[in-house]
Amino acid sequence: MMKVGIIRCQQTEDMCPGNTDFKVAKEGKMAFENTGPVEVIGFVSCGGCPGKRAVTRGKLMVDRGADAIVLASCISKGNPIGYPCPHYEHIKNALKKKLGTEITLIEWTH
Ligand code: SF4
Repeated sequence: MMKVGIIRCQQTEDMCPGNTDFKVAKEGKMAFENTGPVEVIGFVSCGGCPGKRAVTRGKLMVDRGADAIVLASCISKGNPIGYPCPHYEHIKNALKKKLGTEITLIEWTH
């Protein structure tokens, strides 16, 4: 079973416990249809705007065993209020650079 570390929007923590992320990961649904059920080994926030801590936190989860890093839909799609992260492209590109090509980056959850 693939191990993933999920990064979420810190500003969304007040309005979402992340339960749907855990549900789709466990069931292998939506963003995890291709991987099948995954084990969530870490669930952290971006650290707050402008999200620079997401890069080091993503790397830390890889060092602790994650095969893939997932950017939750609160970041990429703006769930649950339709307000995507304005720093999303920067976060994504910096993470890709830091993690290299061997680590999969999944860009949404549900
Ligand atoms: S950088 Fe983006 S993901 Fe992080 S708290 Fe700010 S809006 Fe949310």
